[in-house]
Amino acid sequence: MNLIELDLEHIWHPCSQMKDYEELPPIIIDHAKGMYLYDIHGKRYVDVVSSWWCNLLGHCNERINTAVKKQIDKLEHVIFANFSHVPAITLCDRLVQVLPAGLTKFSFTDNGSSAVEAAMKMSFQYHYQTGNRQKKKFMSLTNAYHGETVGALSVGGVDLYSEIFKPMLLDMIHVDGPDCYRCPYGKQRESCNAECFEAAEKCFAQYGHETCAFLVEPLVQGAAGMKIYPPIYLKKLRQACNQHNVHLIDDEIAMGFGRTGKMFACDYAEISPDIMCLSKGLTGGYLPMALVVTTQTMYDAFYADYGTHKAFMHSHTYSGNPLACSAAVEVLAIMQEEGILTKANQNAVYFTQLICEKLKDYKYVGDIRSIGLINAIELVEDKETKRSFDGKRRIGYQIYKKALDKGVVLRPIGDVLYFNPPLTISRTDMDFVVQVCADSIQEILG
Ligand SMILES: *Cc1c(COP(=O)(O)O)cnc(C)c1O
Repeated sequence: MNLIELDLEHIWHPCSQMKDYEELPPIIIDHAKGMYLYDIHGKRYVDVVSSWWCNLLGHCNERINTAVKKQIDKLEHVIFANFSHVPAITLCDRLVQVLPAGLTKFSFTDNGSSAVEAAMKMSFQYHYQTGNRQKKKFMSLTNAYHGETVGALSVGGVDLYSEIFKPMLLDMIHVDGPDCYRCPYGKQRESCNAECFEAAEKCFAQYGHETCAFLVEPLVQGAAGMKIYPPIYLKKLRQACNQHNVHLIDDEIAMGFGRTGKMFACDYAEISPDIMCLSKGLTGGYLPMALVVTTQTMYDAFYADYGTHKAFMHSHTYSGNPLACSAAVEVLAIMQEEGILTKANQNAVYFTQLICEKLKDYKYVGDIRSIGLINAIELVEDKETKRSFDGKRRIGYQIYKKALDKGVVLRPIGDVLYFNPPLTISRTDMDFVVQVCADSIQEILG
């Protein structure tokens, strides 16, 4: 058997209808460098989706490679209860310096979904231990995505992932969230006052007293198709949470570490959440690790004599993995020492201009939305009415296959094509991937 046959014999790939692999077999990657993946035949692919939004500074970055290699010869892993190590301690110390004010306590998990679940449990137990045992519910936005495990899926609102599992899921409050492209108030994202927050206000009035926390993807609902909304919405949310003694859980798993042009997306709104979840870019996309970051106030509600049973009894075997921590420490050092964000923000202006020039007037391009280096292109059948294509036509998927042929990983979300490249993408690569995107759209839609 060849490698592809062997793969298909055994491997059930994530988020895939495996039957599709009959006509689009798995691309077997041999090695990678910077923006580029190389398959076993030597064909090059530009990774403009950062390998599912996690690769931050390019593949096989020399500094991160060295840091992990150094660490692996010293300590690969150790139990994290009663034990600690330099990479974890250094990481927290460095993160406190860049995180929003007040976020000083770190709990470690090993993937984003489990960080979301740990955050939910923490919030629930906080209220339980501070005299608010009626607080049992959670609020989140329609079209939200917070991961795939049962608890995280419950607060998510993307039917594609959760519909079939509804009978298994926890009962949550889904608040009608912002939809700036099809704004029901006829406003513009740049100038509105988040009028749509009134839906959240109603939910707070009705359910605030029994709600533990509000989970939110800050500024960009990624899995919903990179839907971007204004910072004012987050400001209002912070206020409402304060009024109703509801925790704000800021899920920065996708948008943290400079994806939006600031270190954290919530920095645009100048707010501090009660809990922040971090993963993906945290380790530069090298190793699975996630963090639940919280405040002294939260921590204090769990701090007591053993017999009071107030401890947070949550653990994951790989909590605080030293290899992952060493990668994360190096990522922060590179970002600072190499001025990554400043350069990325300059390039982001160029990238967005380029995309708009090439694609804006195209018949089927309904919306181009941009923040940081993230640029999303929503294709619609009718630009006037903003009517989507029939999902059965799988327009996005057809374009994706064309772009793959041409060497670009333009994996879409439905009919939303997007770029979410490593922060180190060069202008030459931008020119190339935008041209491939335009050509691929042209070939499929004419
Ligand atoms: C990817 C993602 C998650 C889930 O993280 P996993 O590591 O895939 O479990 C949660 N929230 C957001 C916003 C994400 O983008």
